[in-house]
Amino acid sequence: MRCPYCGNDDDKVIDTRTLAEGDSVRRRRECVNCGARFTSYEKIEDKPLMVIKQDGRREPFDRQKVVRGIERALEKRPVSQMDSENLVNEIENQSAKKGKTTREISSSDIGELVLKNLYLIDKVAYIRFASVYRHFENPDEFVEEIRKMEGSFDSENS
Ligand SMILES: [Zn+2]
Repeated sequence: MRCPYCGNDDDKVIDTRTLAEGDSVRRRRECVNCGARFTSYEKIEDKPLMVIKQDGRREPFDRQKVVRGIERALEKRPVSQMDSENLVNEIENQSAKKGKTTREISSSDIGELVLKNLYLIDKVAYIRFASVYRHFENPDEFVEEIRKMEGSFDSENS
């Protein structure tokens, strides 16, 4: 970085700090030529959250896909538009949190988040989504899923 005092291009970084919101970095620099100290600010690029699909391909997180899946599951269920929107927000937030360090999340992780959140809001919608998502092969698997559901999520959220 060019020294604002002498115009020399050579400097060393003496301190690096990520600012509170986490979206920019402040660096204290020292000019190698004249010894002047100055500060630079750099914006951390906002990388999109990538979804790793079952076949290994990657695509940017698509909120609309979550919306469509949830709308289908909630069709004709007594769940308000607002609740359904909050649900999508919640899933989006949880996905971002889960993929925070790598900026990546698998599509199956998203599926699990959808299941978990649907379960909390409407059990019928949950079963509808699960039957599509998990591709039940026979009625036994379906019954098994309901049995599992009665255990796992309850204990996690109580
Ligand atoms: Zn200088």
